[in-house]
Amino acid sequence: MALKDVIGQESAIKILKSAVTKRKAASAYLFHGPSGIGKRLTAVNFAKALNCAEPEADGDACGSCASCRRIEAGAHPDVKEVRPEKGVIKIDEIRNLEEALSLSAYEGSFKVAIVDEAHLMKIEAANAFLKCLEEPPQGSVIILASSNPERLPDTIRSRCQAVSFKPLSGNDMAYLIKDRLKATGEKMLRTLIGLSMGRPGLVIDNGKGGDILKKRQDFLRSLHEMLFSKAGKSPSWADKEEIEDFLDGLELFLRDMLVLKATGREDLQLFGLEVPAELKSLFKTAEEEVIIDCYRGVAEIREGLVYNPNKSILWNYTAGMLKRLLPPSGKRVFKQNKDV
Ligand SMILES: [Zn+2]
Repeated sequence: MALKDVIGQESAIKILKSAVTKRKAASAYLFHGPSGIGKRLTAVNFAKALNCAEPEADGDACGSCASCRRIEAGAHPDVKEVRPEKGVIKIDEIRNLEEALSLSAYEGSFKVAIVDEAHLMKIEAANAFLKCLEEPPQGSVIILASSNPERLPDTIRSRCQAVSFKPLSGNDMAYLIKDRLKATGEKMLRTLIGLSMGRPGLVIDNGKGGDILKKRQDFLRSLHEMLFSKAGKSPSWADKEEIEDFLDGLELFLRDMLVLKATGREDLQLFGLEVPAELKSLFKTAEEEVIIDCYRGVAEIREGLVYNPNKSILWNYTAGMLKRLLPPSGKRVFKQNKDV
């Protein structure tokens, strides 16, 4: 595979191809965009193009020479990659990377360092990394990939050329996952495309899209619990990842409700996934403005997540917001009565 085979990221690929054609890469890039849309895949193929022994006329990698194959296998001495472990990128990893970059290239033309989910560098790691960015070793290219670039220090962001990655269109998603999910029927294919929100990695990485469906079920269970559990019971999320999954799920659910309101077509919906009847009717009867208010609420909660709020307080806060906007009685609290 090469840069030309990356689907749905035309503007990012254009920038990178122009760099390889001119053999003039920036010393640092920041690939930013939601997770699962191909940032790391593109970084690996950019590294191939920079080091390919038999490049195409436009500078793209051949995908089959020894250098390309070693990069693909993660075994090229001049291409190093750091990925988070248990949600953290440790300072030792960054130091090793720094050291590797400071040596001259063994066999390739460029030394390439890829830091996946770079915002997960702890502050000490980020500080150590900054030195690398301030005085980039000759012939080195650093690629930071991040789904949360705003969590990176300004000092790091400002030293990188930003390259934006976008969620894929429905057609691109269908093209990408169809072959991988051959046994899947048309209905499941559409469900997975809807659930993926243009992020093929969410479907492809685990092969059958099972994980994404499980996340959806978990979300529906949590939402039901949040809105209908008996008083006195106080559930919560296990960790920050669960909170983020819940907010992703809620956004998707709200979007579906708006699509249903606008089109009246349930076949466009993901309701095939056993949405509990109580939830379905609650959201079905809600007015559009209420759903949009919920959306806003979700965005605010997401912003507050950077401050690491207490999980059970956040659960109650989210439950309170949703119950206020979507009371089971159907009467929205604080809503003005137009007849008065
Ligand atoms: Zn090659």
